[in-house]
Amino acid sequence: MIIYDLICSEGHRFEGWFQDHEAFQEQLHRGMVECPVCGSRDVEQHLTTGGILRSRGGSPKDEGSRTEEGSKASLGELLHALRVTLEKHFEDVGTDFAKTALKMHYGLEEKRNIRGTTTEEEERILKEEGIPFIKVPFPAKEGDSEYH
Ligand SMILES: [Zn+2]
Repeated sequence: MIIYDLICSEGHRFEGWFQDHEAFQEQLHRGMVECPVCGSRDVEQHLTTGGILRSRGGSPKDEGSRTEEGSKASLGELLHALRVTLEKHFEDVGTDFAKTALKMHYGLEEKRNIRGTTTEEEERILKEEGIPFIKVPFPAKEGDSEYH
């Protein structure tokens, strides 16, 4: 049994229980995964978590034998899920990333989720300003004009 943290298009977070990763994918594609708060079927895995395996019944001695299954989702799948989430929820500001981050930091622009690219110099400035950002090592996919 695998538990995913899910989030709907309205931003409601909830847990979904699935037999395994494949069952999750299938149910998601069939629109069988539904937000318990608003009923939205526009649901996806929440960014911060991959699959988390918990043993049903909560007996600690079961943990060891079952955690093996938890690593089924490969790094590639996780990166893909992360990328899909990023592309959906983060505004692409391209090479204006540093500039936009600075403006948000100083309240000149509304705070929002952004993604984009920076130069090393810009990264240094962001660090000096204490602006948090994460770097995600996505290889540019073919025909992708967003990640030069
Ligand atoms: Zn919802």
